[in-house]
Amino acid sequence: MLTSLDSLNINRNICPVCKAADRSILLSVKHNSPGFLDFIKFEKYFSASFYDGYNNGFLGEMLYEVAECNSCHFIYLTEVLNETGMGILYNEWLDKELLKEYYGNIPHNTYEETMLRVIKKIYNKKSQVNIMDFGAGYGNFCSISTKIGFNTYAFDLSDDKNDHIKNMGVTIINNLENYIGFFDFIYVNQVFEHVSDPGGILKKLQQCLTNKGLIYLAVPDCNDAKKFLKEEGLSNNFFKFLSPHQHINGFTNNTLRLLGINAGLKPLSMGDFLFMFNKSLNLVELKFLIKKTIKNSRFSTGLFFKKNN
Ligand SMILES: [Zn+2]
Repeated sequence: MLTSLDSLNINRNICPVCKAADRSILLSVKHNSPGFLDFIKFEKYFSASFYDGYNNGFLGEMLYEVAECNSCHFIYLTEVLNETGMGILYNEWLDKELLKEYYGNIPHNTYEETMLRVIKKIYNKKSQVNIMDFGAGYGNFCSISTKIGFNTYAFDLSDDKNDHIKNMGVTIINNLENYIGFFDFIYVNQVFEHVSDPGGILKKLQQCLTNKGLIYLAVPDCNDAKKFLKEEGLSNNFFKFLSPHQHINGFTNNTLRLLGINAGLKPLSMGDFLFMFNKSLNLVELKFLIKKTIKNSRFSTGLFFKKNN
């Protein structure tokens, strides 16, 4: 068992979105400071093994430090788990049985189904459409995707979840280098708020797209994070924006767009809508496409991008 802090964490000294070093520290507190455990406990799914680590020192020694980039105004935690730490987090420190029960009880997602039906109609001339769910969780999206008839691939950190998805007829991948220019659509839902280098990952995903490929990025909207921190401090509301180990990046529409642009992508716009418009779309699908290409592009943190060829 790893017990040293240095082998599990990294310090993000520059902005993960724009690489600027100039920043303001909004809050800085050790995880083992008095009262901080109450904030950690807003996460209901930490396992006994997590609390062992916390009480025996190395997790308690970590710093919960919230920074705001003075250039692009991205809000992020500076000290976070590294790849090894994240692996342990998702395989050991979060209680898998409780999580499985939680995800198993999520109702069928009509939003994902509408999205996939629109994608199907956009690519109606292709005989084989390759789709990847990056950070596939328990496979809700993959299960809809295989039913619609897409060639479906999944990428996920957790071994346990992989076993679950394999049984759905989905190909599990763990090496993006083997899939350059391969995917017509990549779905990245509620992933980038968790990863230490979202820009680096997005560049790799960009390379995996075909020239006309699309990518969908969705993250929690942290537009109000600063306001809640100021008004409520370490409250349950603020926990939903930036939480120890898990929600380490707080995106807004602006910073999510910038992340995409810096990775060689372009947010969809009116021109793309006209290009993708298709007479076979039904009203629900048409509304979805309008929302995602025109209306939401300036507001939400669920955005479609294409390759900036
Ligand atoms: Zn920045």
